[in-house]
Amino acid sequence: MENYSIYLPSYSIGTDVYKKIPEVCTPYGTKIIAVGGHKAMAAVRELLLEAVKGSALTFLDFVWYGGEATYENVERLLKDQRVKEADMIFAIGGGKATDTAKALGEMAKKPVFSVPTIASNCAACTSVSIMYNEDGSFKNPFFFEKPPVHAFIQTSVIVHTPIKYMWAGIGDTYAKYFESTISARGENPVHYVALGVGMSRLCYEPLLLYGKKALEDQKNGVVSYEFEQTVLSIIVTTAIVSILVTTEHIIDYNTGLGHAVYYALTSFPHIEEGHLHGELVGFGILLLLLVDHDEDNFRKVYEFNKSIGLPTCLADVEITAADLDAVIEKTVSMKDIDHNPYVVTKEMLTEAFCELEAYHTEK
Ligand SMILES: [Zn+2]
Repeated sequence: MENYSIYLPSYSIGTDVYKKIPEVCTPYGTKIIAVGGHKAMAAVRELLLEAVKGSALTFLDFVWYGGEATYENVERLLKDQRVKEADMIFAIGGGKATDTAKALGEMAKKPVFSVPTIASNCAACTSVSIMYNEDGSFKNPFFFEKPPVHAFIQTSVIVHTPIKYMWAGIGDTYAKYFESTISARGENPVHYVALGVGMSRLCYEPLLLYGKKALEDQKNGVVSYEFEQTVLSIIVTTAIVSILVTTEHIIDYNTGLGHAVYYALTSFPHIEEGHLHGELVGFGILLLLLVDHDEDNFRKVYEFNKSIGLPTCLADVEITAADLDAVIEKTVSMKDIDHNPYVVTKEMLTEAFCELEAYHTEK
């Protein structure tokens, strides 16, 4: 047997959790450099400065991450005198800013604390950065041993951000349950994979229960219990599942047909531009459930998508019947479905798309 360690996320959540920063961060030094997106840093700057007032902590500066999660931006930040002087890095913003700051922390060997300002994905709590090339194309996942030391999830900040991020984040989050459980079906996975797959149920059920109300509350700027539960599912639960099922740095249990459909759809430029990741993944899950003949969950997810405006038919994702063959061809070629308990064929997908359109017309 091999020796191994697993490091899981640590976090604070609530309407006023930045006040915990001195207590949590002081053991790591005194000088903080904040790295993030312009809008995100503008939204939290005063709150963070206020939070460290009277403590030993100081912010050396707030630095823009560079606009894309690239190794070039990380290298540039590594040379920055303010980063060199800092004892710790605050990663502020959404996925790309957070991933850049996490990669910076890894390369600079400095502890990272995350301050997510939107609830659209689990970047604030995972031990991987999704890296891109300077032209915006995908480069690779950069895996680390540990996630950020701590995440400060201040719901009173997140509630005032555009609703579309959480809306799409919901689709990407419930996908984690279906994709990981189907990927592990019929297997007796090793402890950490089994733990992640078991926990993935909490990426799905709470969202069905609380997701709709959470979005309504966000629209009204209200931090409700439902809003907090939804934020937790998207940022924390999904991160724990991801860390556990990708311990071996493989995607086998962390993706599936929902993502394969997403990648196929985004090979059409007009779809790539006009739709968010989680929105299309949520649509892909409807096809996954039809291919898998899981009628019960299909109905549940269909109704749920409908209730919050996530896509339920081809027109919603701007695909015409003429494009369908190309989408299907592309979907079955994706490595996301390599680890599936059965081979997903073009015929299965053709049937699933027809069923979805028929179900949509009937409704
Ligand atoms: Zn995804």
